[in-house]
Amino acid sequence: MSSLFPALTEGPADRPALRFGDRSLTYGDLGAAAGALAARIGGADRVAVWATPALETAVAVVAALEAGVAAVPLNPKSGEKELGHILADSAPSVVLAAPRDELPPPLAELERIDVDVRATGPAAGGRASEDDPALVVYTSGTTGPPKGAVIPRRAVTSTLDALADAWQWTGDDVLVHGLPLFHVHGLVLGILGPLRRGGSVRHLGRFSTEGVARELNDGATMLFGVPTMYHRIAQTLPEDPELAKALGRARLLVSGSAALPVHDHERIAAATGRRVIERYGMTETLMNTSVRADGEARAGTVGVPLPGVEVRLVEEDGSPVASYDGETVGEIQVRGPNLFTEYLNRPDATAAAFTADGWFRTGDMAVRDPDGYVRIVGRKATDLIKSGGYKIGAGEIENALLEHPGVREAAVTGEPDPDLGERIVAWVVPADPQSPPGIEELADHVARRLAPHKRPRVVHHISALPRNDMGKIMKRALSHD
Ligand code: ATP
Ligand code: MG
Repeated sequence: MSSLFPALTEGPADRPALRFGDRSLTYGDLGAAAGALAARIGGADRVAVWATPALETAVAVVAALEAGVAAVPLNPKSGEKELGHILADSAPSVVLAAPRDELPPPLAELERIDVDVRATGPAAGGRASEDDPALVVYTSGTTGPPKGAVIPRRAVTSTLDALADAWQWTGDDVLVHGLPLFHVHGLVLGILGPLRRGGSVRHLGRFSTEGVARELNDGATMLFGVPTMYHRIAQTLPEDPELAKALGRARLLVSGSAALPVHDHERIAAATGRRVIERYGMTETLMNTSVRADGEARAGTVGVPLPGVEVRLVEEDGSPVASYDGETVGEIQVRGPNLFTEYLNRPDATAAAFTADGWFRTGDMAVRDPDGYVRIVGRKATDLIKSGGYKIGAGEIENALLEHPGVREAAVTGEPDPDLGERIVAWVVPADPQSPPGIEELADHVARRLAPHKRPRVVHHISALPRNDMGKIMKRALSHD
């Protein structure tokens, strides 16, 4: 087995690897701590990791990968019911946690190993093949209960190496990180990515615009964020010229996990001169497409397929769409070395997710521009509204609503309508709760920008949108109101 992280043994040992607050590890420290832990867990089949945003989580996952043991990152904010489900489903033999962490009842029955980030042991070198599972990561649960995606080592290396190509990502890059560590974005891209390149990570613990500005002013080169973070940045920029200067220094600002509203993209570009680049991925597929560092960052697009990844759009009957004309909507299917192997204990769901010839059905709908750029329209299940004979994507209506000065946040859903099949419903958090924009005003605003059949028929004013821990809008919760 070759290590996923050549820099653990090959580079200078005093090179910085990880920093969380005022605690940090060099590559030498990390190799020693991971080696010691890998020796202890070497015989295990699967280990759970209590994935707080801390050094211990990174050491635990690196140790598991070095030992060739699959790691199951757990969200420390999960409720006991969800934790119980994930533990029963993934059946880990031990849980790795920081010595200071208190673990809730569902974990009490498991053997616990405290992660000692100052331990020392020789490099691991277990036996694992490219097909062996590296991680079992639970999906975000946006559309249903989370499913455990079994991610092979091959998927991790191929996705990280494809991103290195697309982003010109090297060991000289220093990443500012403010995301949780129990999903693909924060863990695979944000921790394993820099470590595979031999670069370094500075984790903010908790995202703040001050933290981002401080690190970018202090030599960091890249920022990975979710759209809610870029929204905060866009809101803060007008009153914070230092933040604008700091962002202007970054080599790469990357957004993913959900669609970045065009309005926020444009505001950041106007204030900093930098365009945020978007990439599109899933727990099941790791990364599929991205705007390239040397490409054109077009607002509202997730760029082009990554090297090695095949992407196609298909009609409802499964046939590929006739043309990439920027208008024909189809479901995104992907194929490549980046794919997961299966949903744990869910042969039915696994079988349903793949076509006979190995394409994964993402459930996301998109159009492609003639030059290959993918524009995500939304999810098949919640974001595609069939109204008056048209298929309408929620995303572009949300983008249009967000350009209205009276709208702070917006989500669009469909609901049954006797005449139209479905009617368009807007859920709006008003900028000023005292004078929320009414339905006629918003309907006219959308009709002028897009087309008359895309105007909302109903508007609900709410105080906040339901979001999960990645800032994704939980549309299930909206339509159940
Ligand atoms: P579940 O599968 O449990 O319902 P989930 O799909 O939100 O939850 P993830 O695997 O974390 O779980 O998220 C993948 C989804 O996130 C994609 O299918 C897509 O809908 C969305 N997504 C990711 N990146 C982008 C992006 N750049 N633009 C738009 N949507 C994105
Ligand atoms: Mg999903």
